[in-house]
Amino acid sequence: MATAVSTLYPDASEIRDGRLLVGGCDAAELAREFGTPLYVVAEDDLRARAREFRAAMRGEVVFASKAFPCTAVLRVFEQEGLSVDVASAGELALARRAGFGGERIVVHGNAKSEAELRAAVAVGARIVVDNFDELDRLDAIGEPATVMLRVTPGVEAETHEKILTGHAGSKFGFLLADAPRAIERTRAAAWARLRGLHIHIGSQLFDLAPWRAAVAAIAELGDFEAYDLGGGLAVAYTAAQRPPSVAEYVGAMVATADELLGSGKALSIEPGRSLVAAAGVTLYTVESVKDIELADGPLRFVAVDGGMSDNLRPMLYDAPYAADLVDRVGAVGTPCTIVGKHCESGDVLVRSAALAEPAAGDVLATPVTGAYVYAMANNYNGVPRPPVVFCSGGRARLVVRRETFEDLHGRDV
Ligand code: PLP
Repeated sequence: MATAVSTLYPDASEIRDGRLLVGGCDAAELAREFGTPLYVVAEDDLRARAREFRAAMRGEVVFASKAFPCTAVLRVFEQEGLSVDVASAGELALARRAGFGGERIVVHGNAKSEAELRAAVAVGARIVVDNFDELDRLDAIGEPATVMLRVTPGVEAETHEKILTGHAGSKFGFLLADAPRAIERTRAAAWARLRGLHIHIGSQLFDLAPWRAAVAAIAELGDFEAYDLGGGLAVAYTAAQRPPSVAEYVGAMVATADELLGSGKALSIEPGRSLVAAAGVTLYTVESVKDIELADGPLRFVAVDGGMSDNLRPMLYDAPYAADLVDRVGAVGTPCTIVGKHCESGDVLVRSAALAEPAAGDVLATPVTGAYVYAMANNYNGVPRPPVVFCSGGRARLVVRRETFEDLHGRDV
């Protein structure tokens, strides 16, 4: 019997007799075929989200590639007509490999090297200048470049402090007070074509009020042909979270820009998380279950074959996640703490998830793991990084292979 899947799973997923299917593929079979940990991506969801953003946005939609930097994901967004933002020469090379022309690449970074700036200039990418030293470096390069200036508007969004970027103490962008001098310098530079201003005040934003204050602040800096309004739209990591829809969020951004910056401006937005997070599900195998009696009650640890090496976000940001056993989704369960295999007590993937009789060998899924998860994977404890599989219409296609021990040691001299 097919039942409605939790809203946390990709649109292209369903539950059949308690079994999870993503993009028409049975999750337990995916785990068997490709091994675990495994990043599963519903390709149709990537495309649907890209189309939703394009339909809602009057102007350019730029995928923040740091959210899921692999060739297959970037290729999907290239095919769907998005632009891409990169924050290093490595991400720039990836964007080129995925087929993006320079005119569809936006280059970020608060510490761009001369080599990175030269690479950006060489492909004709748009450079978002962050600071005066970068302007000096571009002066020295002297080659024609299209630029925008990133301004720190001095507003505090409501989100985790580590993903806050528009406040007065931020390391990113020109201070509001320094922006007029940066604008004047760029306008006077023979090499520069100044298109306009850029803001990005933070990530996982539910409320646009601080962002509106940021737009009001940059409106004081003069009239420009283009504005890049940044990313930041929140996603639901748990059933209790209720972010705005893409249409509501983007509609409000465009209306605010029209009102405060003037109508008819060339606008760009830079979503990362909201394009990819919900398309991703990570699969693990349960290795051990441990019951402990504490003074305030029982505690059940469910330990899986991955953890902070394939998903650093719980450790970095206390990010909340949900979890299910893939062959008994929806079954009544008892609270469990899902921990990883790494040598850190903080290696906790999910603080509390209700699981029905978990046992070694079970396959466990954590939904909403498409954003900043693959991107931050690492090799702590010598654990190879997982593969990525795209699922669509019942077909699974490997797009990133699993790392091998040879990969891990291949650079040792
Ligand atoms: N633009 C810039 C400059 C960023 O630094 C980021 C994220 O760090 C983004 C866009 C994407 O943000 P989000 O993934 O929250 O949409």
